Amino acid sequence: MTRLFGTNGIRGVVNQDMNSALALGIGQAWGTYLKKTVPRPKCAIGTDARLSNHMLKSAVTAGFLSTGCDVVDVGLVPTPTLQYTIKEKRFDAGVIITASHNPPQFNGIKGTAHDGTELTKDVEEAIEHIYFSEQFALSDWDQVGNYSTWDGAIELYIEGILSMVDVASIKKQRFHVVLDCGNGAGCLVAPVLLKKLGCVVTELNCEPDGTFPGRHSEPLPENLTLLIEKVPEIHASFGVGLDGDADRAIFVDENGSYIWGDKSLSLVGKYITRKTKGGITVTPVTTSTCFEDVVHQNNGSIIYTKVGSPIVAGVMKQNHAVFGGEENGGLIFPAFQYCRDSAMSLATLLEILAREKRPLSELISEIPSYEMLKTKIVCPNEKKERIMNLLAEEMRNHHDIIDIDRTDGLKLYMTDGWVLMRPSGTEPIFRVYVEAKEKNKAEQIATFYKHLVEALMQRA
Ligand code: MG
Repeated sequence: MTRLFGTNGIRGVVNQDMNSALALGIGQAWGTYLKKTVPRPKCAIGTDARLSNHMLKSAVTAGFLSTGCDVVDVGLVPTPTLQYTIKEKRFDAGVIITASHNPPQFNGIKGTAHDGTELTKDVEEAIEHIYFSEQFALSDWDQVGNYSTWDGAIELYIEGILSMVDVASIKKQRFHVVLDCGNGAGCLVAPVLLKKLGCVVTELNCEPDGTFPGRHSEPLPENLTLLIEKVPEIHASFGVGLDGDADRAIFVDENGSYIWGDKSLSLVGKYITRKTKGGITVTPVTTSTCFEDVVHQNNGSIIYTKVGSPIVAGVMKQNHAVFGGEENGGLIFPAFQYCRDSAMSLATLLEILAREKRPLSELISEIPSYEMLKTKIVCPNEKKERIMNLLAEEMRNHHDIIDIDRTDGLKLYMTDGWVLMRPSGTEPIFRVYVEAKEKNKAEQIATFYKHLVEALMQRA
């Protein structure tokens, strides 16, 4: 069976691999799946700002309706807004039409369960099975689903966030925030939220536009140059850049320095575990050790997972974690909901700044720093498994290795750093992550493992 769902739903180029026939089939398959357990399922659907949204939303909706599911259309919303609505309004499922940070020609279909969490692998596989076998349970003519619209999702979500943070303390500080929504779905929420928190807001790219005229929608340093310049120029407190569907937020300090996602994850993690006096936190194996350091300082513990936000959220839920997230600006606040949430990240950062009464750059400078290198090693797909086993075998008695972790790929811990090799699911390469305190040490580790893997490849 061919897979449809990737790490974050189904994505593709519009009218090529992401077309209305596929969207209709997904709606029919998913509706059929839901009807197995719920007699009359109620689904919420929303979209980001892309041009093909109505086309795909209409097709998925038609599929749901044809199987006897009711659909409530909540309109243009950030992904976490839809997720919160599903949980709070007790929907049976939800769909967001989005391709997150991908280029404008892309779009996608992402599903959530009744609690707002992203679909688990077994549910995705069940939907795929129905889709490919075309075993759609179409309803009788008088049992076709009802369609309605609801425009209360954004207000519900903003009010929810305001109930989670110390609004009075934040308001008192009159923060000046430069906000770059990248013309994505965040335009509907972030400006309103910031104003409700008493902030002065300088807006960049805050008109939703599916052609993404302002910048590429992934909040990487090279795409946030305008934000980076603007913050120090107008003496703002800090800047924030969102991705296309506003589940990820990246911050820029008052000097215009870009803050990498593992630093903001650590700053918030430090603040939350201090408040909760420890507790469990969750992050993928790719995250910098600085997160573990701050969590341990507050007597918290950490669970490392495979890469992928649905996996992180799932492990958080199972373990009653107090905080978690990814190193790309995707922070998860379980007290609010089990998914990445840029607006909650923003509100929480404001609360931290209001409580600490110190500039963001100073708070970030207190987070331990590591040098991380990301590179790749070419390796034929059929040799990957064998290479990893050979390497694990080879390193077992190596004096330098203190621990071997096979959560996702192969992670080798040394006294002064670690190396992680993850086989790519799509390309004949290993993605290699190396971290050490010093840059030359990280480079030394990377070179050593590159040569070792190349030597093992000859033997494999
Ligand atoms: Mg996203």
